[in-house]
Amino acid sequence: MLKKIRRHFKVYLTKKYFEKHKEKKTGNCKRCGNCCKIWYKCPFLEFKSKEATCKIYKHRPAVCRIFPLNRKDLEEISTKCGFHFEKSL
Ligand code: SF4
Repeated sequence: MLKKIRRHFKVYLTKKYFEKHKEKKTGNCKRCGNCCKIWYKCPFLEFKSKEATCKIYKHRPAVCRIFPLNRKDLEEISTKCGFHFEKSL
């Protein structure tokens, strides 16, 4: 829960931090949906043909758009995310 709150603050209050880390992220989303189940299962998450989809995808909040913000975010999910970060972070 604290990590989710931290991510909200990083996204909304420290835009410079977000822009710096955004550049270091590589990879692609595998649509596993695990980032939508941190702390609680998002009510807008649904699975179609075993792929996670968002019912409000075009209007989803910034905290969802930027996941993972950094490597700490990846520690919150149980499986491997399709994104990763450079070792220098
Ligand atoms: S955990 Fe990573 S791969 Fe899975 S849905 Fe979220 S961003 Fe995509």
